[in-house]
Amino acid sequence: MSSPRRPNIVFVLTDDHAANAIGCYGSVVNTTPGIDAIAAAGIRFDRALVENALCTPSRAAFLTGTYSHTSSVTTLATHLTNDHETFITALKAAGYRTAMFGKWHLGHGPDHDPVGFDHWEVLPDQGEYFDPEFFTPDGPVRYEGYVTDIITEHALAWMEAQGDEPFCVLVWHKAPHRPWLPHPRHADLFTDPIPLPPTFDDDYDGRGTPAHHATMRIADYLTDVDLKEDPPAELGYAERAVWKYQRYMQDYLRCVAAVDEGVQALTAFLHEKGRFDDTVTIYASDQGFYLGEHGWFDKRFMYEESLRMPLVLSYPARVPAGASTEALVSNVDIAQTLLGFAGVAAPEGMQGHSLVDLVTATDPAPVRDAHYYRFYEHDDHMHHVWAHYGVRTDRYKLIYYYADGMGLPNTGDTSYPPEWELFDLEKDPYELTSVHLDPAYAGIRRELTLKLWDLQQELGDTPHPRQPVPEGRTR
Ligand code: CA
Repeated sequence: MSSPRRPNIVFVLTDDHAANAIGCYGSVVNTTPGIDAIAAAGIRFDRALVENALCTPSRAAFLTGTYSHTSSVTTLATHLTNDHETFITALKAAGYRTAMFGKWHLGHGPDHDPVGFDHWEVLPDQGEYFDPEFFTPDGPVRYEGYVTDIITEHALAWMEAQGDEPFCVLVWHKAPHRPWLPHPRHADLFTDPIPLPPTFDDDYDGRGTPAHHATMRIADYLTDVDLKEDPPAELGYAERAVWKYQRYMQDYLRCVAAVDEGVQALTAFLHEKGRFDDTVTIYASDQGFYLGEHGWFDKRFMYEESLRMPLVLSYPARVPAGASTEALVSNVDIAQTLLGFAGVAAPEGMQGHSLVDLVTATDPAPVRDAHYYRFYEHDDHMHHVWAHYGVRTDRYKLIYYYADGMGLPNTGDTSYPPEWELFDLEKDPYELTSVHLDPAYAGIRRELTLKLWDLQQELGDTPHPRQPVPEGRTR
């Protein structure tokens, strides 16, 4: 099949939306009919992974099709300079109409403002949920209302105003990012007890220091601002933890409800206009999130819940309906995929793979045999997650926490040793027991250590000086 017309592109990206809170991914805590409908009309990716589970770097990876070490957007404090080519600048040069609404979080000012867009309205940094200010080429504007609704409505109005040229619109939500402020119309949702995930009481036995050291436990580290009310005084520690989980999840899932309504409005518009079939509609999040798994909220770790992003795509003119895939795909792949669908050559230097064949061919080849991950923000003051990198294959995951020459905070010790973790995801899908020192996995460990080293060379990243050179390789 081929499409006579270059497709429109509607790319909805949310912030911190875990697959475990999406119906088509098997959510037991909520429903998302809008997102599910995209998957039903197209394909659901079950192993879509991010290369750095953090808002700003992930956005840069989506736009530039490169890893964090290439875009130089490694942490929340490193912003994207707008001399980079992106899939947007390439689409614009090829005659697409382009627009961006919502969370940018890649910096502001002459060096960082969005480029390649015919129209843009972006939230300053994290943005606000209510009556939010937006930055535009004409200066700041404040709109009354709820941020998720405003982003959707403005995107719809822009789409309505387009003529015959194909368009690409980014609908990039703030929700459901902390501090999880839902619209009052959703205040009655999720008042029944929300099921706890199986690893809610995880004590991190079986993993190294970093999991113990992180300060993301719901029981201990959600703040008054997050919770918005005090736990009942009579509750003991364990009951209070469950109460906090419930409070957290209520607001999180209510924020998701508004997102899903927005997705329904966008696809309804495309159907009404007869454009749904020749539009590439994508729903993704900038990374996953802990919804009580391992007792946590937040992201950052290379463990599955934050490594995995939800990703569903429909394009009925070319992509068969109702498919799913376990192929290892990455946020780095999206830029080349959208350009591939548009028939536009990808700029030199993009580091992902187009997924066009994967989603259109009857017997597609895998796009990669291993995924490279790196998290740079070492031991920040709020979450205390160590910097690490690693590799994930279909079955295994190897992680190296290089500890970056720092010790545990407030100890004066700067010599804390690096640590490794290795998980067999088939036998241990919740990643509760590292088998790095298990002699039965010595061969796998050697193989993955080489794979990690080789991927770093191939992608142009530099192994940390503390990492030993694997046998048969040189630095
Ligand atoms: Ca995020």
